[in-house]
Amino acid sequence: MKLEDLGYNEYLENYRKDQGFDSFGVGRVILEHKERYVVKTVENEYDAEIIGNLRFTANKRSDFPAVGDWVAFSEFDENRVLIHAVFPRKTIIERQAVGKQGEKQIIATNIDFAFIMQSVDYDFNINRLERYLTICNISNVEPIIILNKIDLINESELSNLIFRVRERVKKIPVIAISNESQKGIETLKKSIIKGKTYCLLGSSGVGKSSLLNNLSGTQRMKTNTISESTSKGRHITSHRELLVLENGGILIDNPGMREVGIADSTGGLEKTFDAIIQLSKDCKFKDCTHTTEIDCAVLTAVRQGEIDENSYANYLKMEKEKEHFESTVAKKRKKDKDFGKMIKHYKNTKKSDKY
Ligand code: GDP
Ligand code: ZN
Repeated sequence: MKLEDLGYNEYLENYRKDQGFDSFGVGRVILEHKERYVVKTVENEYDAEIIGNLRFTANKRSDFPAVGDWVAFSEFDENRVLIHAVFPRKTIIERQAVGKQGEKQIIATNIDFAFIMQSVDYDFNINRLERYLTICNISNVEPIIILNKIDLINESELSNLIFRVRERVKKIPVIAISNESQKGIETLKKSIIKGKTYCLLGSSGVGKSSLLNNLSGTQRMKTNTISESTSKGRHITSHRELLVLENGGILIDNPGMREVGIADSTGGLEKTFDAIIQLSKDCKFKDCTHTTEIDCAVLTAVRQGEIDENSYANYLKMEKEKEHFESTVAKKRKKDKDFGKMIKHYKNTKKSDKY
């Protein structure tokens, strides 16, 4: 194996040289758990922690390593390393932090492609598909749509579903598969590029674990679920969240990824709903909300059937959520700023007290 098989590339190598990281090892974070990490290199998988200095200079959650990150490390002993620096990230998949309005939490980094998975039976829902596409667009991750469980429907039902997807979602590959009959699995495998990193997005029950087992050629999820290993005082679970597939692709699958969903699709609307955005330039009013205005180009297109009615409704809903999210972030920033001012004021008055 080479470092390239884990996704290492020229860009990262140039960065390493520029930074003068010559005395450090380079590896990829394959597991994170409460500020403990597992870093994979060609020869080894190390338990890792970050050096105090990195902890000290980190002023937000995103400054800490995440699964998928490339890091520079020094060896502590044969099983343990210290992380000194995190390489710049090509892409970041994040979600709204639980219980903290307006705050983000990194799920994984440096992902090239996302398999957006839906099952063709109960789960099939184009609005939800558009939401996952929007998450990809915010994150700069390239989407590939996977329709799973096609063993449950017949050919004409399948072509009908694909037709419905195509009506609303253009230019994105759609691959139909069944983990049960293995139909389409070879096509999917062939589409996976060696050295590129993938993740699986989709609701619970659509068949992500089954596909993972299918692609990795093991029964990983069944046999090797999260378990605390007690040997050698290791606290980190033995469940790797980044794995190299048989044909050379790299797949990231962690619990956080499975929670990425509805609430996280607030940015990136422009690309998902490109047709609507393009039309809105022709609206009479610059601040047109495309709901009740006269001479609204979007409404006209919906009326004339040029824009799908459901897609339009989904757009309005997501736009509203986006505004809500942005105003929450703005409020939080203001609060932080006010707090900063208060501290400064406090320090100043303390200073003047001395004299
Ligand atoms: P996950 O929650 O997305 O990881 O979904 P799982 O992989 O756990 O699958 C959920 C259920 O769907 C399980 O009972 C699987 O056996 C079943 N399943 C997965 N793929 C297929 C498929 O292609 N066809 C059928 N009929 N069932 C499937
Ligand atoms: Zn309008």
